[in-house]
Amino acid sequence: MNVKLLDLVPQYAPLREEIQRAMDQVCDAQSLILGPHVERFEKKLADYCQTRHAIGVSSGTDAILCALMGIGIQSGDEVICPSFTFFATAGCIARLGAKPVFAEIDPKTFNIDPADIERRITPRTRAILPVHLFGQMAQMERINEIARRHNLVVIEDAAQAIGARRDGRPACSWGLAGCLSFYPTKNLGAFGDAGAICTNDDDLAERCRKLRVHGSGHTYYHEMIGGMFRLAAIQAAVLEVKLKYLDAWHDQRRKNAAMYDKLLAGSAINTPPIEPENQSIYNQYCIRVPNRDHIKQALADNGIGSAIYYPLPLHLQPCFAYLGGKEGDLPVTEQACREILALPIYPELPEEQLRYVAKTLLDITNVR
Ligand SMILES: *Cc1c(COP(=O)(O)O)cnc(C)c1O
Repeated sequence: MNVKLLDLVPQYAPLREEIQRAMDQVCDAQSLILGPHVERFEKKLADYCQTRHAIGVSSGTDAILCALMGIGIQSGDEVICPSFTFFATAGCIARLGAKPVFAEIDPKTFNIDPADIERRITPRTRAILPVHLFGQMAQMERINEIARRHNLVVIEDAAQAIGARRDGRPACSWGLAGCLSFYPTKNLGAFGDAGAICTNDDDLAERCRKLRVHGSGHTYYHEMIGGMFRLAAIQAAVLEVKLKYLDAWHDQRRKNAAMYDKLLAGSAINTPPIEPENQSIYNQYCIRVPNRDHIKQALADNGIGSAIYYPLPLHLQPCFAYLGGKEGDLPVTEQACREILALPIYPELPEEQLRYVAKTLLDITNVR
């Protein structure tokens, strides 16, 4: 049996007409960048995230970059973030001339460890950039409390966590701002690159709206140096349609996760624990296994797709060598990189395929 890690076709097929109608409206209006479609989507997105503002931008990476520019991060500043994350988290900090300071993660949730954040605060620290990895939120109440005591700004990297909740409160509504990605593999995927910044802060929202158009409030008059972070109307039209179905897709991912949890219980495979305060959206379902590379290959031999998020932590990336990171600096992070493996979890994954993945995994681990 062939099982794909992710198949976007069964999500698109039933929505084909609805999405094409929405795209047609954009084509007919020829209002292609920002404009009414983007504004309508922004309102619905802000409602969904329970924030006052949502600002559509060109990607999740640009959402992080724009938010960091919006709070004035610059050369000489330090921003604390995890090393176990997608590159963009730290890349955006470094692009502004600031220093990414990598904190350790919790071995169970893979999210940033608040106690380690506190140890890494210096007089130069300006902000904390936690990541809600794989769809489960970081310990925001502790992170916000640390930020309050040290007068730091918190920006959430919620690229993998739209609609995730902690104590019932959604991602993006905890920090000063939250950054979303609509890259096609995220739970809410556009038909290309797209992203958004959500915030309750009126001033930051206004700054981000200007920063996404080269810092101009009025065309050709520039109050600040921004970037080109505009959202295309056709992406907003697609996203507006898909947003209606997002909670149902989250539910289906949670059902799939519960089924894996049950089928793999009591085996040598470590399934991903979700904290009782959290409701995960399972952007990924990542197991931990000591002989990960062998298991990944054995799954592939049986026609099953899987992926490694992430094989090399950011503190050991060649481009960050200038920061002086070395093996052994973040042992929990480094071990996660050796043991992690993402299994197929997408909403439309047929139950028969899920059961086949679980059974194959059990067979592989039992013969060893
Ligand atoms: C996907 C992702 C991003 C970047 O989003 P893009 O839309 O691909 O630029 C940033 N941070 C994390 C944790 C992500 O998973």
